[in-house]
Amino acid sequence: MNGSVRNARLNGAAEAHRIHRMMESRERLEATDGQVDVFGILAELEILVVFKPLDGLLGAFLKQEAPGVIISTKRPYSVQRFTGAHELGHAVLNHDPSLDSPGVLRRAAIGYLPAGRGNFRAHLQEIEADAFAGELLAPRWLLIYHAKRQGWQASQLSDPDVAYQMALRCGCSYEATLRSLARNSLISDVQVDAALETKPKALKARLRGDAEWINPWSDVWRLTDRDQGHRVPAAGGDLLRVGLLQKSAAGYRWTASEVDPGLLLLTEDVRITTATVGAPSEKLWYYRAGCEGLAVASYAERRSWETAAVAAARFEVNIRPVEKGLSRANRARLAAA
Ligand SMILES: [Zn+2]
Repeated sequence: MNGSVRNARLNGAAEAHRIHRMMESRERLEATDGQVDVFGILAELEILVVFKPLDGLLGAFLKQEAPGVIISTKRPYSVQRFTGAHELGHAVLNHDPSLDSPGVLRRAAIGYLPAGRGNFRAHLQEIEADAFAGELLAPRWLLIYHAKRQGWQASQLSDPDVAYQMALRCGCSYEATLRSLARNSLISDVQVDAALETKPKALKARLRGDAEWINPWSDVWRLTDRDQGHRVPAAGGDLLRVGLLQKSAAGYRWTASEVDPGLLLLTEDVRITTATVGAPSEKLWYYRAGCEGLAVASYAERRSWETAAVAAARFEVNIRPVEKGLSRANRARLAAA
């Protein structure tokens, strides 16, 4: 039986790699804001996805004349993406229809076998679809892409703050990201257990300063000059903490030159980086992401008595609309046809 479970995991992961090659996910990464576009892939494969406020179920894979997927909107977006990837796995692996409750997915994740032979085939399907989803959303190349872009060293990846920011950039949950890092031998299982002691709620509280929550599901993005030149895929209600280092001892200060109304300024702050005299300070702005669409924030660094700026910074935040009914990707495809 262990052999069947192992094979199911290998099959699921291999199928995810095949889909990535077919869809050129890696080549399209900039266009998809640094995340695997799971709902775009479902639409391209002509699988209809419907978002509904389901109770008790994360999602379902249906098979009538054509395969279809339902996703519960009563879960955070990272879970909706994981459910979408899991149901896509059922579709491309040619599985039987499946109703996926949190319990089913938890059992599949830990490899726990339910009693009774009749359940075994269904259970292997779940393990295979789960392995597919994990590998689809956070493949090794994606984890390394974000680590390089952010300048994170291998030794930092098990740091809960770093893992949380990695999770946001990959569009995965904190726990799923830690598990993917371990599956790819970038951190150890012991480090995963240690990092899971810190809950995302505590990580967010540390980052958000005095800014108030609207929605406990909202995330806190820590943006630095490393995020320039790439679109940040946030949600309405998310908090964005923009931090820029300034040579304050020499009189240099960052100021906001232009910020789109999609980013609502909540508060500003200056943080001393080290106790060393002459060390740069960090200028911080806290924003709340508003309505959907692209929002741009630009900054300039200059001395207060000079007009010429010595440096400029620019961030692009892509605030996504809330999914409801037929997926946006499906609708876009149907409209194009
Ligand atoms: Zn399933």
